[in-house]
Amino acid sequence: MTATAQTETEIHGNYINGEWAPAASGETFENRSPADTSDLVGRFAASAKEDVERAVAAAAEAAEGWRQTSPIARANILHKAAEILAGRQAEIGRELTREEGKTLKEGIGETGRAVQILRYFAGEAQQPSGEHYPSMNPLTLLYTLREPLGVVALITPWNFPIAIPAWKMAPALAFGNTVVFKPASLTPLCAVRLTQALADAGLPPGVLNLVTGGASAVGDPLVRDPRVAGISFTGSNAVGAELRKLAAETGAKLQLELGGKNPAIVLADADLDHALTHVVAGAMMSTGQKCTATSRAIVDRRVAAQFTRDLTDRIGALKVGDPLATETQIGPAVSAEAADRIVADVAAAKGDGALLVGGDRLRANGHGRGHFVAPTLFGDVDPESTLGQEELFGPVLGVIPVDGLDEALAVANRVRFGLSASLFTRDLGTALAFVRGIQAGIVHVNSETAGAEPHVPFGGMKGSSSYSREQGKAAREFFTQTKTVYVDPPPG
Ligand code: ADP
Repeated sequence: MTATAQTETEIHGNYINGEWAPAASGETFENRSPADTSDLVGRFAASAKEDVERAVAAAAEAAEGWRQTSPIARANILHKAAEILAGRQAEIGRELTREEGKTLKEGIGETGRAVQILRYFAGEAQQPSGEHYPSMNPLTLLYTLREPLGVVALITPWNFPIAIPAWKMAPALAFGNTVVFKPASLTPLCAVRLTQALADAGLPPGVLNLVTGGASAVGDPLVRDPRVAGISFTGSNAVGAELRKLAAETGAKLQLELGGKNPAIVLADADLDHALTHVVAGAMMSTGQKCTATSRAIVDRRVAAQFTRDLTDRIGALKVGDPLATETQIGPAVSAEAADRIVADVAAAKGDGALLVGGDRLRANGHGRGHFVAPTLFGDVDPESTLGQEELFGPVLGVIPVDGLDEALAVANRVRFGLSASLFTRDLGTALAFVRGIQAGIVHVNSETAGAEPHVPFGGMKGSSSYSREQGKAAREFFTQTKTVYVDPPPG
């Protein structure tokens, strides 16, 4: 293993205590492109408990030094990492597309988002971190400080393989925490690239540690380690539920970003062509594999038949294929398991609505080289059915006809999730009633459910989150704790 992450044989190590090194066992796992399984993206360290142990020890050792480092110095490193990443954006965006399968435009765009996040938190590190209060004693200097938690574990999914790690890592580091980062095993290359940018920017050894490998071999020992003071997790509700129990036992501070069943409500007065474009994009871009993807189009009955016909045409015409090709609109599902599961879930949902287009694995015209699924639309979905209630995490949209805003809101809210929601209307009063009534952490009027900017809070209500928020100023809440200070002058 050389000082860089990549050798000629494309074997990538862990990054622990400032060094790239293989897993202690020497084992590796391979990562292949979901668009073409003959494309070997690389081999990565198949780590285990002893690697986690070393990474947490390094992070614990570095914690005091990093906590005492000036926020201005931390900001300078984040700025430098942003510039390094920006210089590599086109190349990393392409690698992101190769390993995750979203289109090249999305891959490059997401890498640019990571750059923007690093820059934002470099600025945020230099913002005031406490408040000054009056005291009963007029001579007392009474104020608060925000201090880091210590060692934090960042556990990330594959669907935004560079942006989600960046939006956890940048605030964790900016506010003085040291990090053990366990990325999804389907997208380790983006994790290596992000870590590399921060290492090249001069982050001291031990401040950021990357350990690649599986959920039970790496994730599990990491979240159980008593030296881990905070856990920030994005992923499935099932794992989130396990982490809630675990954190209740260990006392670690916990942040969860989980699933969604996000509605786009289309009212009869909306600009229907605009709504159509946004509903299709919200449901299908990134192969529908976004936690903020639109999975329910809740449409006023007066326009539902026409809107459904238009959706069928637009969804049926989407160009599915090689995500590196410029004409492609929809890439593959992330893995064979994901594609099989989506198709099985669609088959099981046939009694929940009318299958209008899609639903199959695509195998002809070169699609057989990867894990492609046809963009899928169901009409007349029963809102109480599995299809109406559960997240499919794929390019699958269901139309639910309703009578007006009140019924639309009732249907929209009758799920266990509450991540994002959209309304399409021209009426301001209706828009404001929607904003008041919808149970969602991210609310859009006249735009798709999946848009989220990095300088504002991100997170869901109900089962979609853990009442904490990521990004923007909200990130400081999670990655710091408050110290209240009373300073009295000495007597006399
Ligand atoms: P996804 O479908 O996005 O992979 P998961 O919830 O299965 O959703 O995984 C999200 C991340 O959490 C991945 O990095 C995965 O390896 C990790 N993970 C899964 N199970 C556990 C667990 N029990 N403890 C810690 N990490 C886990």
